[in-house]
Amino acid sequence: MSIKLKSSYTNIKNWFRGNLHTHTTESDGSRPPEIVIADYESRGYDFLCISDHDILVDPSQYQQDTSMTLIPAVEVSAHGPHIQQVNANNRVAPDSDRQVVVREIIADQSICILNHPNWGRQYNHFPHDLMESLDGYHGIEIYNGVIQRLHGSALATDRWDRLLSDGHRLWGYGNDDSHQPGDVEIAWNIVQAKDCTVDQIDAGLRNGSFYASTGVTISSIETSGTTIHVKTKDAQRVCFVSKLGVIQSIVDEAEVSYTLPEDPNQALSLSYIRAECYGSGGSVAWTQPIFIEENA
Ligand SMILES: [Zn+2]
Ligand SMILES: [Zn+2]
Repeated sequence: MSIKLKSSYTNIKNWFRGNLHTHTTESDGSRPPEIVIADYESRGYDFLCISDHDILVDPSQYQQDTSMTLIPAVEVSAHGPHIQQVNANNRVAPDSDRQVVVREIIADQSICILNHPNWGRQYNHFPHDLMESLDGYHGIEIYNGVIQRLHGSALATDRWDRLLSDGHRLWGYGNDDSHQPGDVEIAWNIVQAKDCTVDQIDAGLRNGSFYASTGVTISSIETSGTTIHVKTKDAQRVCFVSKLGVIQSIVDEAEVSYTLPEDPNQALSLSYIRAECYGSGGSVAWTQPIFIEENA
């Protein structure tokens, strides 16, 4: 038996930064869409989703006034835990059966993300059994900025590792979920794409060619044989994490590599490897999981 790494990254050198989760006065945000869009643009963002609660705000009316790529989105909110519909064609209506919501988002050809799992006093906005049972979604928010000032935990890599370890192949997204000026530029996604078009950003977000960050910048994520190379601009430490959150390696460098154990069974038992890159001021970048498979 031999082992291979299955990476979602490509050799494209361009990276584009954006936030997929933004509220405005169209629902419970404090500022109108044009002000929110101008704020993100002034911070150098490349793309943005306005994603109000249960309403699809048509971003085309704002596109001529910004150089950012605006992507239509909805946060499906009523009657259950919140689900993000990114690159929405038609608004998906809330249904108390969340599998119906997921199915309709996929039928709409949108990207489907389960939001802020660890929000609330019980740290359980998204019950874990429900996340385990739902079928067909693309990933979860592993960092949600607004939860920094609310009850619960902004970070949800614990949920992600549990789901990945149970065999779900899911991507981890980082978003602001901004409602007020102070919520802006907390967490974002950096997508590998030739150009910043809606279609190419959609493909990167859908296929896992992106990483989530609260400040650290990654230049490349490459694999060769059974080795993963991660090159960052500003990380001070990189940890490689495997099945059920086990840390396989900690290196205090900006450029690091990790090689799978030589024994194929041992390598296979790790299931996946993902990198957490820690920088100054508590900032982090999270790569997508690179899956460990048997060579057929
Ligand atoms: Zn929400
Ligand atoms: Zn929200």
